[in-house]
Amino acid sequence: MSAIDLEGLILTKRENIRYVSGFTGSSSVAVVTAGKPILITDGRYREQADLETSGWEVVIYSSDMTKTIAGSVKDISLIGLEDSSSLGFHKRLTGALANAEITFTDGMVEGLRARKEAGEIATIREAADCARRAWQTLLPMIRPGVTERQLAAALDYRMMTAGADKPAFDTIVASGPNASKPHAGITDRALEQGDQVVIDFGARKDGYCCDLTRTVAVGEPSDRAARIAAAVLGAWDAAFAALAPGVSAPKVDAAARDYLENEGFADQFVHGLGHGVGLEVHEKPTISRLSREVLDPGMVFTIEPGVYLSGETGARHEETVLLTPAGPEIL
Ligand code: ZN
Ligand code: ZN
Repeated sequence: MSAIDLEGLILTKRENIRYVSGFTGSSSVAVVTAGKPILITDGRYREQADLETSGWEVVIYSSDMTKTIAGSVKDISLIGLEDSSSLGFHKRLTGALANAEITFTDGMVEGLRARKEAGEIATIREAADCARRAWQTLLPMIRPGVTERQLAAALDYRMMTAGADKPAFDTIVASGPNASKPHAGITDRALEQGDQVVIDFGARKDGYCCDLTRTVAVGEPSDRAARIAAAVLGAWDAAFAALAPGVSAPKVDAAARDYLENEGFADQFVHGLGHGVGLEVHEKPTISRLSREVLDPGMVFTIEPGVYLSGETGARHEETVLLTPAGPEIL
């Protein structure tokens, strides 16, 4: 904050508020200044806010939150507001803070969140363990006649009975021709013999996510389906081998993309290689051709190359990976 001359910073994004304060409630604003930080929430969360935070002043607002914020930053002339805040909130805040200039900030807390601490990594490991155990018990269910929706519901149920808070995002089960859509929604399509099925899922545990994708075949896949599944695994291995502390994100993306280009699938890999995972399922760092990020120890991110043959089939393989000083580790 001092580097950009901010005397105060107003956080509105739930994950960022949780990260700096520990508070997990759904409605709050955090005000960070040189003095004691302030958490402003409503009466429903009075007890929870006291229990979850330490070193914070908890203020319960009743009618207008922006007036309560204004009261807590009276002598401040330049204050930052997260750029993910809503336009309506910005408008009300501008009215309440008549004497202060508000400037939007971009990714200040997200930048801190990109490098995980030991406790965060341990929690993501627990999330990954819930997902792994759920997957192992799901495999026998994947057979002709079962629908995408039934498989997704069974996987979600199994992750939660394995200890997950809930699924980290809407589980994807894309079978047969649906597998050509990277973010297919689930349908009532019943699996058929010979289908290739892309299953993208993750567990959330104590707020932290994991994200993984498996591609499986029901019986024998077609030669084309088997070929793209093998190409995706080869690209995954190439990207994993390129991971090291200090490597640029585009270089890792290129390792997978070059591999797929050699296999003749350059144009069928239609998304970036991966994304950071933590309190959000998509966060920093972005691993793509256009990313400007450098991968550092402590970062947790996905590696997920995919190949999609329009209207025909698709394949993707995804793991949540931790970068350590010694190299990458699959979580
Ligand atoms: Zn995924
Ligand atoms: Zn992902």
